[in-house]
Amino acid sequence: MTDVVVYEKLFIGGRWTGPAGPEAIEVVSPVTEQVVGRVPHAAPADVDAAVAAAREAFDHGPWPRMSITERAEVVLRIKDALAARHVELAELVTLQNGSPMLFSVRGQALSAVGVFATALDAATKLTEEDRRQGTGGPVLVRREPLGVVAAITPWNVPQLTIAAKLAPALLAGCTVILKPSPETPLDALWLADLCAEAGLPPGVLSVLPAGRETSAHLVAHPGIDKVAFTGSVDAGKAIMAAAAANLTRVSLELGGKSAAIVLDDADLSVAVPAIVGGTCAANSGQACIALTRVLVPAGRYDEFAAALSAALGGLAVGDPADPATVVGPMVSERQRDRNLEYIRIGREEGAAVLTGGGVPAGMETGWYVEPTLFGEVTNDMRIAREEIFGPVVCLIRYGTEDEAIAIANDSDYGLSGAVFTADAERGTEVARKVRTGTITVNGFRLDLAAPFGGYKQSGIGRELGPEGLDAYFEYKTVNLPSPART
Ligand code: NAD
Repeated sequence: MTDVVVYEKLFIGGRWTGPAGPEAIEVVSPVTEQVVGRVPHAAPADVDAAVAAAREAFDHGPWPRMSITERAEVVLRIKDALAARHVELAELVTLQNGSPMLFSVRGQALSAVGVFATALDAATKLTEEDRRQGTGGPVLVRREPLGVVAAITPWNVPQLTIAAKLAPALLAGCTVILKPSPETPLDALWLADLCAEAGLPPGVLSVLPAGRETSAHLVAHPGIDKVAFTGSVDAGKAIMAAAAANLTRVSLELGGKSAAIVLDDADLSVAVPAIVGGTCAANSGQACIALTRVLVPAGRYDEFAAALSAALGGLAVGDPADPATVVGPMVSERQRDRNLEYIRIGREEGAAVLTGGGVPAGMETGWYVEPTLFGEVTNDMRIAREEIFGPVVCLIRYGTEDEAIAIANDSDYGLSGAVFTADAERGTEVARKVRTGTITVNGFRLDLAAPFGGYKQSGIGRELGPEGLDAYFEYKTVNLPSPART
């Protein structure tokens, strides 16, 4: 039996502090269904204490007043500690959300390290002040830290989504209250220790695991300047509505229903592994950027249906700790049931199950779902329109290239995507026409140095790269006196 990882205290303003209330969060293993972790559940009073500490540190503390170079020294120590302990981190993530270690090492832990590295790189190239000639005289344009940031993150890629907020926010000079998902509080509290050891001044970081109610209290708090959120569309809408009361800034990284467009000249041996890697093999399909709609030309439909069924049906499903496992369990019973319900809906809508379609035989303990490929899907079906968040893939037939682009764009979402073709120029031209935040030609990739975010209901704002760093500054214009008037 695995030892239970226990935290007795919350991390408030840089100090381990007893919680205000008696409530606890139990982390349940998606593999064994046993409790593997226990942490305090932050109450609204803990939020108030964290906001007070963050406000004090921002308004009067050293952190926002240091140069970017000075802050980068501390952030570099966090990045180096994460890199040195990335296997431990991957194991901790896997323990909580069942992400296969094969994915967890690279897609969870090393991706978080990569986000810190690219944010540091962007920060070294940034100027804090620019002098320009304005229409009425010389102008000084300053980037100033935005303020106190509430970072609210999901369970599927917890450290990647934390890093995408924490690294730029810290480098910009903001103070941060991190509210991780109740499914994955352990890695967030683990990170708090690393940050403390790296030498963050008091008040700069708080980590408060909690559910929706406490999270909503944080969002509505008048002491917060920005909410940086990753999660579902419904929660994003609630957060934006709540933030409107104080005009708190928001950035929202939400869901997706991304299309992989296979063009008629595509190389099957390139497209199929990339689609597998971008669907069921991407965190067991629990990825916002998953390529869940695969659009294939009518003339190549049978060929792709057969190849994808074989590839997805042959994936190793099992214990995520086993390095050979490609598809692990869903994070929770609720997510497993959600997937099974969508599989039922797909059948009812008239789609054909080409592989999978249920719980793998003999895997009743743990929240497993078979990699499932639906054929004969049309874009108006619910399984093609709604985010399922698991190893369920839709195969959609199209006629012309223009029709493929129209189907890709006929979605409430616009987060990710792919185009497969023998002609890279043609692929790039198609990519230009898809209304989505990220799209890859002949592959599946999230580039940590480039802006990432959503069109339409996939979100507002961008994370990662220089654009992701810019999101944590306010611009100030100082109109300087004209030389003649001084
Ligand atoms: P979720 O929306 O249920 O929860 C996300 C976080 O928000 C959690 O910390 C939760 O406690 C908090 N929360 C929920 N409702 C809230 C409210 N009304 N007010 C304040 N806080 C609230 O999402 P989830 O199930 O944890 O994660 C899965 C979702 O996240 C999927 O839709 C997925 O596509 C999305 N996601 C998006 C990205 C991206 O970068 N675009 C990345 C990963 C996951």
